[in-house]
This record gives sequence, structure tokens and C-alpha cells, in this order.
Amino acid sequence: MPSCGRRFVAACGWDWHRPVPSSSPASVPRSSWRGASVDKALIYDWNVDQPSPRPPLVILNDETLRDGLQSPSARAPSIDQKIHILHLLDDIGIDTADIGLPGAGAHVVRDVEVLARAIVEGRLRLQANCAARTLIADIQPIAEIVQRTGLPIECCCFIGSSPIRQYAEDWTVDHLQRCTEEAVGFAVAQGLRVMYVTEDTTRSKPETLRRLFTTAIDSGAARICIADTVGHATPAGARAVVRFARSVIDAAGAGDVGIDWHGHRDRDMGTINSLAALEAGASRVHGTILGIGERVGNTPMDLLMVNLVLMGWIDRDLTRLNDLVRAVSDATGEPVPDNYPVFGRDAFRTATGVHAAAVVKAFRKNDPELADTVYSGVPARLVGRSQQIEIGPMSGKSNVVFWLECHGVTADEDMVDRIFRRAKSSSTVLSEQEILRELEAARAYATTRLDA
Ligand SMILES: [Zn+2]
Repeated sequence: MPSCGRRFVAACGWDWHRPVPSSSPASVPRSSWRGASVDKALIYDWNVDQPSPRPPLVILNDETLRDGLQSPSARAPSIDQKIHILHLLDDIGIDTADIGLPGAGAHVVRDVEVLARAIVEGRLRLQANCAARTLIADIQPIAEIVQRTGLPIECCCFIGSSPIRQYAEDWTVDHLQRCTEEAVGFAVAQGLRVMYVTEDTTRSKPETLRRLFTTAIDSGAARICIADTVGHATPAGARAVVRFARSVIDAAGAGDVGIDWHGHRDRDMGTINSLAALEAGASRVHGTILGIGERVGNTPMDLLMVNLVLMGWIDRDLTRLNDLVRAVSDATGEPVPDNYPVFGRDAFRTATGVHAAAVVKAFRKNDPELADTVYSGVPARLVGRSQQIEIGPMSGKSNVVFWLECHGVTADEDMVDRIFRRAKSSSTVLSEQEILRELEAARAYATTRLDA
């Protein structure tokens, strides 16, 4: 192998998968994760020019195994797959997870109990919660699972609160208030910690929310959850409703009651609304892996975590997050779209000449962090992935040279020219097999020429 091949193969073999440096939450830099790892002179970070205040507390609640499985396209995972996902959620640093709605039937009770035992036996750090309608019939099985397994489970009681839902269901606010008082009171009496959820909060009247929140707090609820059930909210709306909830909690003299934000992404604002809610005073945010859920889904927890880490609002090692995304995709049959941010096939792939040339030049400078950042808003190594240079019709010769070097191929000019011409006449990026075929043909031609 010639010296240049050896040099660049070595460059391609750099360890891009080393763990993200971890630090205690107190020592997380205020600047972005990226700003902390690349020479600050090379990136002016407007994101921290006028930063949003860092929330004092950010708790992550995963809904993949409950709300996520309501996706009309999701296949129900086996119980072993659910346990595997639960372990990965714990590994990645999820704080709390919804493990089911036992009121939905005996089969859910059975699964929830198995998952609760898996948490106990696996000594997982994440805490469990279960969803329940504001019905004693839904709350009772949660209390029984707690008794049988010894695992504390938070009870998340939900009820529709918007006028449009009240009209469709023929509900009055008095009825909602009675259900709230009875259900929260019953759950608290059973020794359960309660989060009270108003469905469709982001389209509910303030006077209704005030009555319901106050009733829930007076009945013993420890948290209030604002649900953007139909993905209606904008960031301004999210901030407004969270601040309103805080004012109601404070007026009730219950400053220790926390606020949750549960978002959906019908308007593709799941992630940004979660950040806005945290800015405004929410301390726990919900999401599902890959954003799977009812209709087009929930806030994507994986992307929310990436953003929270990049902003320095949480401190987690995300190098196994890609494994979790794949596990959820495999278990539910929900594909990861090629252009899905961070975890999609194309997230760190480029076949464009200018982009690839910049990445390749960064490699040549013996600086993997530079190569990982020059054309990426998210460093691939943050999630255990790496940059990929492909060869296609938009490529330059540097793509070809670099691709061959990364595959340990000693290339001469004829080979590079041949593959480059093939790429220019193709309508798509060349597959590995296509490139290798061209190489074989180039070698065969060179041998014939030498023989002659
Ligand atoms: Zn939901």
C-alpha cells in the first residue's frame, strides 16, 4: 500500500465512537456541547449569544411503551422486546417511563406487572408510571400491581378538558370536576403519587383549567400535566399555558407541585414546544422514541434529548441512543426514514462535491472533531455514528479518492477517473457493489494493457 493510502486509511480509522466526556450536571458548560469540543474561534454560536435561561430541573418521561404504541402503524412489541426497550431507556438516562394503561384490560395488566418486575429485578434507575382515566376501575389495578410487585408506580389520571371535547361527549365542567376529585382522591388514598393530566389543555379555557387544576391539587395531585393532545400549540402557546398553570399552582399555595409538558407533533412542533415549555417553567417533558404515537405521533424523545444535550440543559451519554432507536423501530415495525434527523440513514451522509471536499480537508488536518462539525449541526459521534462520504452525480474527485482510501483501496488516477465518470452518468449515489465493479473493470483493463 502506498504511503498516501496508509496515511488516509489511518485517518478514516480514527475512533469517532469514543464516549462523550461526561460531567456532573453542575459542571455542564453553559455553552453548547459542540462549542465545548471544537475551538470556539471556529464557530460563532448565536444560540448562546442571547441564551434562554437554563431550566433548574429537566426530567425526561418516556411514553414509547404506552402512548407510542397507539400509532396506527405500530406493531405491538413482544413482552421481551418491551423489557429490552425498558433497559435501553434506563441506560440512556430516561428518568421516568409510562409502562402501560392497566385499565385497558387483563393483557395490559399482565404486561405492566412483568415490566414492573423487570424494573425491580434489573435494579433499573428509571421510575415507572401508568396512565389511567379518571375512573376508579382504571386506578385500582395500578394500586394492585404496586402491592404485588413492591414497585412504586405514579398514577397519571387524564380527563378531557377542552370545550370541543366537552361538547362532543356531553360533559359539563361540574362533571369533570367531580371525576377529578373522586379519581385523584382515590389514587392518593391508595398511596399512589398522582400526576393529573388535562387532555387537550392547549385548547381549554383558563377558567376550566383553573377549576380542574385547583381541584386536583386540593385532592393531593403532586404534578399537573399540560397535554397538547392534538399537537395544536405553537411555542408561544406552550409558554403561555405553562405560565398560566404555574400561576394557578402558586395561587393554590402549592409551589412544590411540578408541571409536565406532553406534546404531539401534528404541526411538527413537538420538540420546539417542549423546549418552550421548559423555558416557561415545566420541569418534566414527555416524548416517544422516533416520535411514534397517535396519528403522526408525539414529541420525538431521541431528538429532544439530542437538543437538550447540545444546549447544555441535560447531561447524558447518548452514544447508545442509536441502538435504542433501532430497537424501537425493529420492535414496532415503524421505519426510520432515511432523512430522519440524527438517526436516519442520510443524517451524516454526503455525496455532494463541495460538502465532501470540506469534510475531507478537515480529515487531512488530522482533526476528527473538525471533520465531524464542519458540515454537521449535530456531531455524529455524539450518538455513536460517523460521517460518511458517498460517490454520486454531484460528487467531485475528492469523494472518489476519499471513499477508496476509507475502504483501504490503493487507487491510481485511471481508477479514480473511471469511477468519477460512472458517477457523473448515474442518477443516484453509487452503491458499494457498483464502485467495486468499476474497480474490477479498471484493474482488468490495466492488466490487459500491461500484457500488451
Ligand atoms: Zn399523548
